[in-house]
Amino acid sequence: MSELHGRISLAEKPPGIEGAGFFATSLEKVVGLARKNSIWPLPFATSCCGIEFMATMGAHYDLARFGSERLSFSPRQADLLMVMGTIAKKMGPILRQVYEQMAEPRWVMSVGACACSGGIFDTYSVLQGIDRIIPVDVYVPGCPPRPEQILDGILKIQHLVETESLRRRDSPEYKALLNKYGIE
Ligand code: SF4
Repeated sequence: MSELHGRISLAEKPPGIEGAGFFATSLEKVVGLARKNSIWPLPFATSCCGIEFMATMGAHYDLARFGSERLSFSPRQADLLMVMGTIAKKMGPILRQVYEQMAEPRWVMSVGACACSGGIFDTYSVLQGIDRIIPVDVYVPGCPPRPEQILDGILKIQHLVETESLRRRDSPEYKALLNKYGIE
């Protein structure tokens, strides 16, 4: 038990004022802390990068350490859309529909060269980057990226989640971003 205890690191508590029997902080910081450590990913894996994600979920890399072991295959119960693999243009509308079905707040991670830019497939049939159809928060480079890189992407998403203002999703800037993609 003590050995296990040594390997578990507790999440940093948000800044606040504490004393005997009380701790005061802002709602925004508590919500950020809770969201950051309970991200439910939706793996949209179409090819080889998906295999790296499977390794990331395995015991060695263990995505559960970051509170993200609960994968969601329903967009309605997911916070993070992870796009991993080559996205054919025919697949584009489906990916976009999945994104639109996710509830706010939602984040998107583009994993691997294919999802980020079409990768080596500079052809008529392959989408040259998913940010042509949906907004992306974090890009993970590589062909394929190693599981460590995927974990690095998760840490960057966690930072965004933790520090995002609760008002951001109602801001004119965010609405303008979605409008740019033709999303209401
Ligand atoms: S980036 Fe490379 S490894 Fe990933 S899906 Fe494309 S070809 Fe496969």
